[in-house]
Amino acid sequence: MVETTTIVMYPAPSIGHIISMVELAKLLINYKFSITILLTTGFLDHPSIDSYINRISTSHPSISFLRFPSVTVTHSNTQSLAATAFQFIKTNAVNVQSLLRQITAKTVINAFIIDLFCTSAMEIASAIGIPVYYFFTSGAAVLSLYSYFPKIHTQTTASFKDMAGVEIHAPGNAALNATLMPDPVLDRGDPAYWEMLYFCEHLSMAKGIVVNTFCELEDVAVKAVEDGACFPDLKRTPPSVYCIGPLIADAQQSDEARDNKDWLSWLDKQPSRSVVYLCFGSRGTFTVTQLKEIAEGLERSGHRFLWVVKRPIQNQLGVKQVHDTTNDFELGSVFPNGFIERTKERGLVVKSWAPQVEVLSHKSVGGFVSHCGWNSVLEGVVAGVPMIAWPLYAEQHVNKNVMVEDMKVAVGVEQREGDRFVSGEEVEKRVRELMESERGNEIREKSLKFKDMARDALGEFGSSTKALANLVQTLNEINH
Ligand code: UDP
Repeated sequence: MVETTTIVMYPAPSIGHIISMVELAKLLINYKFSITILLTTGFLDHPSIDSYINRISTSHPSISFLRFPSVTVTHSNTQSLAATAFQFIKTNAVNVQSLLRQITAKTVINAFIIDLFCTSAMEIASAIGIPVYYFFTSGAAVLSLYSYFPKIHTQTTASFKDMAGVEIHAPGNAALNATLMPDPVLDRGDPAYWEMLYFCEHLSMAKGIVVNTFCELEDVAVKAVEDGACFPDLKRTPPSVYCIGPLIADAQQSDEARDNKDWLSWLDKQPSRSVVYLCFGSRGTFTVTQLKEIAEGLERSGHRFLWVVKRPIQNQLGVKQVHDTTNDFELGSVFPNGFIERTKERGLVVKSWAPQVEVLSHKSVGGFVSHCGWNSVLEGVVAGVPMIAWPLYAEQHVNKNVMVEDMKVAVGVEQREGDRFVSGEEVEKRVRELMESERGNEIREKSLKFKDMARDALGEFGSSTKALANLVQTLNEINH
């Protein structure tokens, strides 16, 4: 007999996506929903996922997690990481089916909220009659670009990676060089391209799309997704869009980072808004050559800095995209001789990880060199800290475009064609531009305005609060 109602969520197997989805769950339990989150096991498992799950289940008893049995996929160097990840998610379809059936036997599922990368689960849920929603963990501009991607796909037979100089125009987005499209769609020879096409074709089929952004931050892009401009060939009403952000995670610290508060006592001693904070997300890693250039640029800029440095990559392949929070490297070996000594009065280097949300909210932080991961962008916006946009992977070049061209909360770094190397001179120039120039001041003012707008969006009468209320109402109306 059916007794209770629940919402089931299915995040992609990446810690950032899981954390974001959990933040959405925390919002929805305030409206008396119970939430079940499905998690895969066996690929891209984060080392602290078990302790994270325990923490959330203990602090929020209405949120429960169901782990799938472990599934093995083999990742070879001839295949992209995205292709293997998508294959892994597809292989888990059988687990989704069996768990959804088990849950529906005892409970009404009001909605199945999935990550874009888990689209393979949509048909399974629809076949059982469960309404499917997306939770889009990036912003509205990327949502619009992805929704429009099936159209762009029909306009050329070439791979974006071979279309240097060709501009991509998607509704709600500034023009983007084709070679800067998100990684998984760059190459038609990569199975990930075709999977992404399949995912993006399904966006319009969802009952609704929940987006971690707020209307005032991305007004043009939000309009493009709300009025359906990004679904040009759609013959029916586009899915409802709910911009409920910014959702900022509050529990992202490794145990080690929580124990080490050197950065805090150091920041406490610095003048207000004087420190440039550099951090490149959970996966951004550089070669030693690139790290040395950053060090030289920072030193020459003369500005104070707090820099999170991950273990460098050993080859020249550019950016490594695995989660690596190991500390077993010597800082001295990755910097120019004497760098730490010469900058000790005005710089602090932290190995591997710093609690970013806390760092950004410190009054001494006056600038943020970011890899443009969407969570980092939102965290910078919420803290009102102006940024230097240095995109590395995934959809970060699109985010950079939005930050620099639309929001005007960042200056962008010039990256060399091909290997995307950034010189020390460029680092110095951009740090000075942000911290010393008139343009830097304008960007700082704009950032502070967005900080207020972000707070207002989440306030009692704010746009995100209204969007959440609309979402909750729709979820409550669903009755099988
Ligand atoms: N993060 C952190 N400390 C670090 C590196 C990352 O707290 O040293 C957090 C950051 O605050 C953000 C998340 O990890 O919430 C990274 O997500 P984002 O979307 O910015 O980038 P990704 O790691 O997914 O590329």
